[in-house]
Amino acid sequence: MFSKILIANRGEIALRIIRACRELGIRTVAVYSEADRSSLHVRFADEAICIGGAASSGSYLNIPAIISAAEITDVEAIHPGYGFLAENPHFAEICESCRITFIGPTPENIRLMGDKMAARITMQKAGLPIVPGTTSVAKNKEDALKTAKAIGYPVIIKAAAGGGGKGMRICHNDLTLISSLMTAQSEAEVSFGNPNCYIEKYIEKPRHIEIQVLGDRYGHLLQLGERDCSIQRRHQKLLEESPSPAVETKLRKRIGDMALRGAKTVGHVNAGTIEFLLDSNNNFYFMEMNTRIQVEHPVTEMVTGIDMIKEQIRIASGEKLKIQQENIQIKGSSIECRINAEDYENNFMPNPGRIETLNFPGGPGVRLDTHIYPGYEISPYYDSLVAKLITWGRNRQEAIAVMKRALSEFYIAPVKTTIPFHLRIMDNNLFLRGEVSTHFVQELLKGEEKEEA
Ligand code: ADP
Repeated sequence: MFSKILIANRGEIALRIIRACRELGIRTVAVYSEADRSSLHVRFADEAICIGGAASSGSYLNIPAIISAAEITDVEAIHPGYGFLAENPHFAEICESCRITFIGPTPENIRLMGDKMAARITMQKAGLPIVPGTTSVAKNKEDALKTAKAIGYPVIIKAAAGGGGKGMRICHNDLTLISSLMTAQSEAEVSFGNPNCYIEKYIEKPRHIEIQVLGDRYGHLLQLGERDCSIQRRHQKLLEESPSPAVETKLRKRIGDMALRGAKTVGHVNAGTIEFLLDSNNNFYFMEMNTRIQVEHPVTEMVTGIDMIKEQIRIASGEKLKIQQENIQIKGSSIECRINAEDYENNFMPNPGRIETLNFPGGPGVRLDTHIYPGYEISPYYDSLVAKLITWGRNRQEAIAVMKRALSEFYIAPVKTTIPFHLRIMDNNLFLRGEVSTHFVQELLKGEEKEEA
């Protein structure tokens, strides 16, 4: 096992990793930007090194500065968390060449799944159902029109190197397809440094269902059940739960088996997530694979009792997975609400600033992953996630009741957050019945949800 790890991240996930290390008896090194000088991850780690200015390009994305910090502090491994360098195969390779273990999948795993089209081709070959569409780049409008004709409208244009819900365009006819393709390609070039786009069928009102996988270096792979992440705004997740209210036992096994087959095909090591879209007829389609720990990993931890971060560290240190698939049991139900410093009544506008008053929720069934404290200054430089409120109950109804109660205890002022929005969701009949699609938030905001009593 490692004796010292550097955490190449900030915010709640840096704290989460420090906590796992403490429990494993591993010393930690935090890196931070000038804007994060008074952050909790800096205070809680055993050592801390400033790696650059506030902008992430000079700090949390600054590979030479991070590697230097790792060498000066003599760590054996780096945990990248999520975002920043977590899915950068080049960074994983540099770590390896400096004899520092990258806590995550292999550079090959990351590179292959980072190209969404290569991922589609690979998973299709492995026998997974993929979203209908092309497995080659839409080079020009003729290409795009041909694909659209074959699969039928609506279609979605996606950037092969895309991520974070960015760079997708929905098209309903030839005209919008032609005009959107060029814009999508130039946007993809600017945002991801790769103009390649492809076209797939736009699935109407699907659910987003993803399977957590975990694999050791010796080919032992596990799947830890599904998360339902259908509650999204602009393709970004706001609330996640496990298990999904839309997935019954047989379907759970089918999707889980498919995910395992996909992960085995690519020889996946460490934590990964295989994302699917589920349509209203229970057809599911592979969408993409994320090769890192996800923001929403706690709901899986709550229902399986498995500490994903500790497992990531154990796997990276060369240990064998001790858990067997047949011993994984989904117990109860868990929900996570992402609390963002955003004014939901004002188009979810980011609302950075100083937190003057703060009250944390507590009590049975409540877990809070956060880096904020009274007096904490929310920086405009980073994403607006300030806390993840996670609840557990013996069933979904109980997890919702706990969430509603915990949200009402959670007080942050004067910064505006998404807490009131989550409270609205907790009172919504469609949500309570588990009848939501990825369009839920949009419909809720428009006040269009068709509620029967
Ligand atoms: P990213 O990697 O940018 O997050 P994803 O491929 O994971 O992109 O897609 C994000 C979200 O976009 C999905 O959860 C879903 O809501 C929507 N989406 C993506 N592809 C499709 C599709 N073919 N049909 C309908 N919705 C889609």
